Amino acid sequence: MKKYLFVGNWKMNHTLEETRKFFEVFLEKIGEVDLSDRLIAIAPPFTSLYYASSLVKDSPIKLCAQNAHFADRGAFTGEISPLMLREIGVEYVIIGHSERRHIFGEKDSLIAKRVEGVYKFGLTPILCVGETLSEREVGQTLEVVERQIKRGLEHISELLPERLVIAYEPVWAIGTGVNATPEQAEEVHSYLRELLKELYGERAREIRILYGGSVTPENVNSLMSKPNIDGVLVGGASLDPQKFLSIVSIRVVKEV
Ligand code: PEP
Repeated sequence: MKKYLFVGNWKMNHTLEETRKFFEVFLEKIGEVDLSDRLIAIAPPFTSLYYASSLVKDSPIKLCAQNAHFADRGAFTGEISPLMLREIGVEYVIIGHSERRHIFGEKDSLIAKRVEGVYKFGLTPILCVGETLSEREVGQTLEVVERQIKRGLEHISELLPERLVIAYEPVWAIGTGVNATPEQAEEVHSYLRELLKELYGERAREIRILYGGSVTPENVNSLMSKPNIDGVLVGGASLDPQKFLSIVSIRVVKEV
């Protein structure tokens, strides 16, 4: 059975001491959560990643990086290789987050290479896609996410479905406090599901499609009730261990 996936993206937040405090609270309580149908991953900044790997070692919490280069080593100042991440126990890597696309100018072609590199070295890419507000307003949402998926996955022809995660994150919902409604999210997720089936066949049902954008303990139940939402990518609310615990411990009831 495909397990739900809850990912916390800390972005450029939490020093080592704050990382220690987060896990002190989070790990103490996570044992009380029924994890039989779900996976939980946390993406700290690179400085905390190695430290976090020692803190989560004997726990069910998985580690995620916020980006990665495509090569194993080389003259790429400022980058981290998938091999280096694998060495410290990282399993997932966020690629093509809207902040990478819009603040740092990462294009679909670079994102596709990062996805390929991460996949090739045995990590699971979490490919983020999503439209801006102006694109939504002119009715281009599905066209934009389709282009981002097709271009972002252009080097992945043979696929193990459990080794790919897609995150639909409308840019206008990230960090704004305005989440997509469950209906808006489901419309895009079901479109993405069909698109992935076209690309990879029936096994694409097993690919997890996460929703991200102002997820909170208050709205996570209704978002997760939608049939094609397989988990959430959480930014702001994942910084607080209590809030993230409330999110990851919800009882998921799917609409029929
Ligand atoms: C994110 O970082 O991917 C995100 C969705 O942020 P937030 O939950 O704060 O909107």
